[in-house]
Amino acid sequence: MLHSVVVYLLPAHTFFMTKAKYGKKVVKTLVSHRACGTCKWWRRNRPGLPVRKHRCVRNHTGSARLMESTTGVQGVQELSSEGTPVEYLEGDGDNTLIARLRSELNITMKKRFDKNHVVKNIGKSLYALAGMKGVRLSKSVIAHLQKCLKYAFAKHQGDKEGLEENLKALVPHQFGDHSVCEDRFCGFKRNPTKQYAHRSLPYKVALRDPDLRSHLEKLFQPVVANAWQYCDLGSSQQCEHANREVTLRAPKNLHYGNSESLDFRVHATSAFINEGRQYLSQVTK
Ligand SMILES: [Zn+2]
Ligand SMILES: [Zn+2]
Repeated sequence: MLHSVVVYLLPAHTFFMTKAKYGKKVVKTLVSHRACGTCKWWRRNRPGLPVRKHRCVRNHTGSARLMESTTGVQGVQELSSEGTPVEYLEGDGDNTLIARLRSELNITMKKRFDKNHVVKNIGKSLYALAGMKGVRLSKSVIAHLQKCLKYAFAKHQGDKEGLEENLKALVPHQFGDHSVCEDRFCGFKRNPTKQYAHRSLPYKVALRDPDLRSHLEKLFQPVVANAWQYCDLGSSQQCEHANREVTLRAPKNLHYGNSESLDFRVHATSAFINEGRQYLSQVTK
């Protein structure tokens, strides 16, 4: 089987990585430059003269937003022609790349949100719900629901059925309906004889309002339906990890973006992610 690759979009550099199953390795890194330090210097200090011959790094024109999707399209194209189809995209909720892949390369790609994203989005919808007339939903209940969601995601990595069951039971459980709960995530199920206290809910009792319940169930429904998407997680950490490592080697405030320095730094990061620290001693050998 061909390896599938996940694309991580970051503003100035895009990582193409394999899934956790294949060891989370970087298979391609693309670095884009909107400006070249040498060109800039000549334009400023020797106006009118032809720019000295140099390895120009400038490979992108247009907005930073566009840059992200341009490197994305380029990388997907290169990988596909090398025999490595890219299976899905992971990253923040920008659909530009998906749209461009469809229109320019005729590739339909799946998009996956990472779990932090899902938790954040649910939070937003919950606050919107709380602001509606006639809905009584307190901040602490919202925080609790988000915590439950996070917990469900963390507990059922790689376990699609388990995650789905847990997500399905998430809302009913808060209303004291444990009919779809499982022992492993429900204290009531584990010990039904004892009076069960909902420790994180107001007054430690289950929620009551049936209207609220139907609102919440509607809100969580897409999350339950998409459970399969969220059970192979940890990959978002992979992306954050890569990003952090780049920031260590090329701090934003030092502005390496105008020279090849950034390329070396980003590629060094890939080497580090793939091989670990020893890539340094291998280079000096
Ligand atoms: Zn240049
Ligand atoms: Zn329960």
